[in-house]
Amino acid sequence: MKVLVAVKRVVDYNVKVHALADGSGLDVDGKPAVRRSLNPFDEIAVEASVHLKETGAADEVVAVSVGEAKAVDTLRVALAMGADRGILVHTDAKTEPLGVARLLKAVVDREKPDLVAVGKQAIDDDAGQTGAMLAALMDAPFGANANSVELKDGALYVSSQTVDGTELRKLSLPAVFAADLRLAEPRYVTLPSMMKARRKPVETIEAETFGADFAPQLKITRYDAPPARKAGVMVGSVAELVEKLRCEAKVL
Ligand code: AMP
Repeated sequence: MKVLVAVKRVVDYNVKVHALADGSGLDVDGKPAVRRSLNPFDEIAVEASVHLKETGAADEVVAVSVGEAKAVDTLRVALAMGADRGILVHTDAKTEPLGVARLLKAVVDREKPDLVAVGKQAIDDDAGQTGAMLAALMDAPFGANANSVELKDGALYVSSQTVDGTELRKLSLPAVFAADLRLAEPRYVTLPSMMKARRKPVETIEAETFGADFAPQLKITRYDAPPARKAGVMVGSVAELVEKLRCEAKVL
């Protein structure tokens, strides 16, 4: 049982990102360099994948990233968390979900995993599309918003939260699932595990060798900062608060 887990290098979630004044992009490429890290949902996907291995349900966990050479650092974090080896599909080109899904499909054709784990969304583009697109390209079932995953009797059981409660789905293999927030709590990466990860193999494949079309198809026309929030109002008493809620906000 082989699990392939897709990990993306994104701007760290603690960084406050600003739009450039002319609206042409985000101010993330200047100096000093903005901190990048493993996409938080992918951290959860790695944890869930490694857990499958640790509980004997899976034999190997392979982490794959599409992007620039620095994405090797991201792969090393996945390896420190317990993945066995890494694959970097190297490109300096700007990538979009469909292009990434096509490159991941090429890796799937090569690696033939039983299971592919992705994050529910990458926090830089918030697209939430790559996993579903990959599943479609693989003609495989997709377990969206996975809150729990279990490999049993040659199938993957995925549960996810719906408005009415919990939905449990049975997916035939190979399958793709997307990690939601509650799926797993990522382990803390220690220095010794990081040192150990340095000895694990990472293969680099140039994206062009796959012959997949990953040219951008979307054009973002403008970035604008969110409107500034209005200052709050201090009230002197509960009675005044109730009065304002009733007469001004009209919510009572
Ligand atoms: P998105 O559709 O961009 O929100 O990404 C959803 C998920 O697809 C991410 O959480 C990753 O697991 C995977 N993914 C997206 N882009 C990449 C990438 N460049 N390299 C590896 N995995 C990616």
